[in-house]
Amino acid sequence: MKDTVISLSLKNKDNRFLKNKIELKCKCGRSQCITYYDFLTSGEFNIGEPTTAISPFISEAIYDETISITPLRLSKKCPGCGKEVVAVFPLSLEELMPLLQRHPPDPQMYG
Ligand SMILES: [Zn+2]
Repeated sequence: MKDTVISLSLKNKDNRFLKNKIELKCKCGRSQCITYYDFLTSGEFNIGEPTTAISPFISEAIYDETISITPLRLSKKCPGCGKEVVAVFPLSLEELMPLLQRHPPDPQMYG
């Protein structure tokens, strides 16, 4: 699954969504900014255990809709003190995949 995320992200190099930035803040006060693209293509992230949650996009017609949330976590060494700084990707794997798959490689899959 991780390889899929990386290869899809590489294909989405020009996707504006991936140009958003995440700030990694260390306890020592130093912070670094990386783009979503850097996050997803570095290969340094880990796919966490999926958990379920009530959908934040609940509509008035649907109650108690549960969704699966799989977090993506990145740990990167702080350039200041050398400690690991952990960042969680703002979107879950389930939210991210459809964004990366907007141009499906095989249209017949959806026929
Ligand atoms: Zn630090």
